[in-house]
Amino acid sequence: MLCSQCDDHARGTCKFCGRGVCQVHHSNLPFIVTIFGSDPPRSIVVAGTLWCGVCRPQPEPIAMPELA
Ligand SMILES: [Zn+2]
Ligand SMILES: [Zn+2]
Repeated sequence: MLCSQCDDHARGTCKFCGRGVCQVHHSNLPFIVTIFGSDPPRSIVVAGTLWCGVCRPQPEPIAMPELA
């Protein structure tokens, strides 16, 4: 697999979008594994997740009422 930005060999894949990322172009971002409860909702977050730096994970979960 190659880096999506420079075509160097990828060190891994972005946790969020699946792009290949090399040592130069990778970044870290917290990854929300799950959200549960209410008042207030709590989330389980993994810090330092491999991130490509290109995609833009939304900071808030998006309601999907059409799936209900
Ligand atoms: Zn790269
Ligand atoms: Zn990404």
